[in-house]
Amino acid sequence: MNQLSDRINNLSTSATLAMAAKARELRAEGKDIIGLSLGEPDFNTPDFIKDAAIEAINQNYNSYTPVDGYVDLKEAIINKFKRDNNLSYTLPQIVVSTGAKQSLANIASVMLNAGDEVILPCPYWVSYSDIVKLSDGVPVEVQTSIDNDFKMTAEQLEAAITPKTKMIWYSSPCNPSGSVYSKEELRALADVLKKHPNIYVVSDEIYEHINFKGGHFSMAEFDDMYDRTITVNGVSKAFAMTGWRIGYVGAPDWIARACNKIQGQVTSGANCIAQRAVIKALEADPSSIKYMVDEFKERRQLILKLLGEIEGFKTNEPEGAFYVFPNISSYFGKTIKGKTINNATDFSLFILEEALVATVTGEAFGNKDCIRISYAASQDEIIEAIKRIKTALS
Ligand code: PMP
Ligand code: GLU
Repeated sequence: MNQLSDRINNLSTSATLAMAAKARELRAEGKDIIGLSLGEPDFNTPDFIKDAAIEAINQNYNSYTPVDGYVDLKEAIINKFKRDNNLSYTLPQIVVSTGAKQSLANIASVMLNAGDEVILPCPYWVSYSDIVKLSDGVPVEVQTSIDNDFKMTAEQLEAAITPKTKMIWYSSPCNPSGSVYSKEELRALADVLKKHPNIYVVSDEIYEHINFKGGHFSMAEFDDMYDRTITVNGVSKAFAMTGWRIGYVGAPDWIARACNKIQGQVTSGANCIAQRAVIKALEADPSSIKYMVDEFKERRQLILKLLGEIEGFKTNEPEGAFYVFPNISSYFGKTIKGKTINNATDFSLFILEEALVATVTGEAFGNKDCIRISYAASQDEIIEAIKRIKTALS
């Protein structure tokens, strides 16, 4: 008999992590899998950050930290928000957590009551819907179109709002589409929200620095949105620090205090050594990580060119992050090598089995027609992977 709670029984497994685990399993069986499923930079953490961590260990940083993070780390975050985003926060408005994923889980648990609706423009980052559900919230998917670069319009937002709408969660640059909302596009959404003062926004800016066009804009920069926006960020992507597990929020202080309270009962402060190292990461000029962004940009050009040579792939031009999200629905209903492809999950599995390339089905991101390909891999791996996909489909 299943003794587990309804809460866990109703939760999906993270599709990105599941695909990464499957790729690892197949590799252990001796299969030559190219992993383009996980959104994880393939660079080393920069030396100046590693050195700060080593120094912290030698200085005996080994105790519990304040639940919401070391004060000097929070000061570094405040300076970063000012320097990069023109946002002014005070110490009580900042909470450091064990990855932006925990920041998001904190927000859901402090903001949502059962039945509260959270608007998620699709495609959205894989964990949003399940984090919302875990707090008894109801994800409301808004389908966007590749022709509008996968962005939600003001009209679509307006149409999705109901008396139960509590929040909107989006990422810009977006995982998985790579789309970046411009200031004007955000203003149009904010204008709709003017009429609905009780709706709050989560602006997930974890890919902020991986932006090929420049021009990152934060929703909280609008004066009328500042008190209603929770800005989420972290070091996993920009500084190649996924395993270090540090994320943070800048939020209205009553929300930040509530995040602090829940974190104090669930995990306490984030890892002390990682926090010390992140101070150095955030104090550094963003130009210190430009070499990674430049390389991602080259890879984007490469993968777009190669995908353009395969029949039936329709792709937007991502402006940030390190993913492409091609529409592959022209393959639905086809049988190749005896396998029938009826949906994006079939397509992703077909590629895994026949081309030994791991991707993630778009269904995990709320889109049934696309797959996500991460290009956080070497150019050689990208070339080989797309060659294999092309061969498998021909
Ligand atoms: N938001 C987005 C959009 C992401 O892609 C990720 C991926 N890791 C996260 C949040 C969580 O990041 P982390 O927990 O590693 O800080
Ligand atoms: N955010 C990354 C991704 O989308 C890492 C995996 C995860 O945290 O789910 O692949």
